[in-house]
Amino acid sequence: MTASPTPTTAEELRGAGLRVTAARVALLETVRAGDHLGVESIASGVRHRVGHISLQAVYEALHALTAAGLVRRIEPAGHPARYEGRVGDNHHHIVCRSCGAVVDVDCAVGDAPCLAASDDRGFAIDEAEVVYWGTCPDCSTGRSS
Ligand SMILES: [Zn+2]
Ligand SMILES: [Zn+2]
Repeated sequence: MTASPTPTTAEELRGAGLRVTAARVALLETVRAGDHLGVESIASGVRHRVGHISLQAVYEALHALTAAGLVRRIEPAGHPARYEGRVGDNHHHIVCRSCGAVVDVDCAVGDAPCLAASDDRGFAIDEAEVVYWGTCPDCSTGRSS
C-alpha cells in the first residue's frame, strides 16, 4: 500500500530497463486486464490494441517482460503456459484437472518460501512452488463428459 502516484505502463517498462514499444505496452496491459491468459489470448488482445503482431513477437515480448519481473509465467504440468500481471506477492494457484481453469489463492504466509523444507541440503532456498490441483465448481457439478 503505497501512496506514490501510479506510474504509467511505459514508465514501468522503462523502470525495468526495457525498451518501450507500443507492442510491449499493449502486451502488459492485456496481461494485467486478463485472468491468467494463454499466449493466443494475449496475442489477440495485443492485436486488438495495436494491430498486427506476430506470435513470435508476442513470445519474445512475454519473455522480456517475464525476465524483468513485470509478468509472471505459470506453467501447470500438462497445460499450456499462462501469464498474469500479479507479481511479487508469492500467491499460489489452484488448477482444475479437468478444464485447466486457473485461479489465484493468497499465500498463507505472505513471502517466499512459504513451505520450509524438512532439510535444505545446504541450498539457500528462496521459493517453494505451490500448485493446488483439484476440480473446479463447474466441472464438479456440471456435465460429465
Ligand atoms: Zn474445471
Ligand atoms: Zn495468479
